[in-house]
Amino acid sequence: MKKLTKHDNEGAFWCYQTLRIKKVIFCQGVHTLQNPYFSELPIIPIKGDTLTLKLKDHSLPEGLYYKKRWLHALATGSHNPQYRLGASYEVDNSNPNPCKNAQAELLQALEAMFGEKIAVEILEHKSGIRPTCKNARPFIIQHPKYPSLFAINGLGSKGTATAPMLTKALANYFYESKAISTELLLA
Ligand SMILES: Cc1cc2nc3c(=O)[nH]c(=O)nc-3n(C[C@H](O)[C@H](O)[C@H](O)COP(=O)(O)OP(=O)(O)OC[C@H]3O[C@@H](n4cnc5c(N)ncnc54)[C@H](O)[C@@H]3O)c2cc1C
Repeated sequence: MKKLTKHDNEGAFWCYQTLRIKKVIFCQGVHTLQNPYFSELPIIPIKGDTLTLKLKDHSLPEGLYYKKRWLHALATGSHNPQYRLGASYEVDNSNPNPCKNAQAELLQALEAMFGEKIAVEILEHKSGIRPTCKNARPFIIQHPKYPSLFAINGLGSKGTATAPMLTKALANYFYESKAISTELLLA
């Protein structure tokens, strides 16, 4: 991590590269574990792999299908529709690279969906890390020693859905002095 430095003159501010900042909000997912200010957050990495593929002998109407894992039929109106299949779920794994075991597990899930072996062409294999915590609730935390440092984390597998609520709570706190609900604060 590049260095964030604190300056106590002129009303106190932080510097990061060319930036001069009054408040810092870290939204780093699992990378927080390398952040010297928030390395102690109770984050459990859960790795998830996804595959983008073509089904050689099948075609499904556009939509989202689920059995054990999800299968998203994308742009099925085209001649050569693509599908996205996901996601694996591997607790305590923060290795960012796609892994063969996860690929095999996803293809097995695909077979279970169709009830038969399925011929596929894999176009892309990606992986991501869900930053979860024990109670599976996303949170905001203010640094106990440096009150101008904040973190949003624990978004787990619902980050797209829950991040707006957390950022709104922080914006209300900064700009309208509204207290952050204790339900959103890391206990
Ligand atoms: C397999 C999988 C399935 C998911 N399913 C869903 C779902 O069904 N519904 C839903 O709502 N969401 C889903 N998500 C999204 C997920 O909830 C969020 O991606 C997750 O919560 C992480 O969000 P985040 O922004 O906290 O962390 P990240 O997505 O990890 O983002 C952190 C970013 O900060 C950057 N960063 C960290 N440190 C530094 C630094 N020092 N300098 C510069 N940049 C830095 C990283 O490079 C990264 O881009 C899924 C994610 C995965 C991986």
